[in-house]
Amino acid sequence: PTFIIIGAGILGASTAYHLAKQGADVTLIDRNDPSQATAAAAGIVCPWLTNRRNKPWYRLVTEGAKYYPALIQKLENDGEMETGYARVGAINIFDTKEKLNNKMDLARQRQANTPEMGDVTALSPAETKALFPPVSDGYRAVHISGAARVNGSALCDALIRGAEKNGASVIRGNASLMSQGSTITGATVNGENYYADQVIVTGGAWAKDLLTPLGKNVLVTPQKAQIVHLNIPHTDTASWSVLMPPYNQYMLTFGGGKVVVGATQEDNAGFDERVTMGAVHEMFDKALKVAPGLSSSTYVETRVGFRPFTPGHLPIIGPVPHTEGLLIANGLGASGLTSGPYLGLELAKLALGQPTDLDLDDYDVTSAFG
Ligand code: FAD
Repeated sequence: PTFIIIGAGILGASTAYHLAKQGADVTLIDRNDPSQATAAAAGIVCPWLTNRRNKPWYRLVTEGAKYYPALIQKLENDGEMETGYARVGAINIFDTKEKLNNKMDLARQRQANTPEMGDVTALSPAETKALFPPVSDGYRAVHISGAARVNGSALCDALIRGAEKNGASVIRGNASLMSQGSTITGATVNGENYYADQVIVTGGAWAKDLLTPLGKNVLVTPQKAQIVHLNIPHTDTASWSVLMPPYNQYMLTFGGGKVVVGATQEDNAGFDERVTMGAVHEMFDKALKVAPGLSSSTYVETRVGFRPFTPGHLPIIGPVPHTEGLLIANGLGASGLTSGPYLGLELAKLALGQPTDLDLDDYDVTSAFG
């Protein structure tokens, strides 16, 4: 069978890689939207401390985190060494012992079912600071040794190159769907028609535009995110832990002094790609309160990305209702770097008619069609 995948963020790239690895005939199309979520993402892979109670969502993100080491190994076997993935651990910081103990209890419970979390340890203020030196004195932390960070762009590129090495073709351009009655026959891009047995839509926040011409209303909405990049000169930041404060702003580092601080969650901004003063101010303010040591770092840039959300904030995967030959997966939201590689593996299995590990009824597509 032949497959066309539209959208090469983390989800489409992973799907293409896993399909190509199984010997399928794959064409991957992407138009390089500058605000692709994958390229803007922070890169935290640490789903186990969440307060969210939704079970299908939790299963997806924890399976996603668990799959990472095996995927990185597969990519390395294909000669792809640049993924930015490292299990640097994460610290969830607290200003009181009581709050710390509550989170420790939760973390220990979760560890029983998800040993890939690694060690769960309560850290003193001095131990906390040793793992993220700019943090202010006095914070204690829950340390999760199995947490990781990953460079979304680098991993996505590695998956795309890996797919190509396994026979996939990649086309850069804006795709639209071709259909005959209710059957999807392929895609048009750069004035050329490409035919396939199945088309897979992984267009992230922009997927709605692909389906509207078919008379399908998919309820995918963009959530705007702004995220700050800093640099600490002459400092080896490669192995610092991911820092998660008790509210929704985080900090993490990569090699070469790179620090990422973010991010905003703007539900009513549409596809506004601007960096706004208020957002940058808020992120600086929160970051400096927790980590005053960052005040002498270099301000590099603020990036914008659009997280794709579906109703109920639960990802969807499956055939588009009342069509033949069209699959969709979407709604990876704020945790898609964690879940995306694994969901792409599952999507490849679905496309090939193989059994999936997830119960796909839990991620029912019809809930997202209006
Ligand atoms: P995208 O990455 O947006 O990819 C969609 C692609 O489809 C784009 O490249 C677009 O150009 C292409 N496309 C769309 N329509 C067409 C068309 N008609 N023709 C051709 N191409 C098309 N997740 C985590 O797990 N951990 C994090 O720390 C984290 N931090 C984040 C921080 C920010 C600032 C943001 C924005 C997101 C973050 N996320 C994080 C979430 C994660 O990035 C997303 O959930 C995930 O990247 C979504 O992947 P996707 O492939 O569905 O969409």
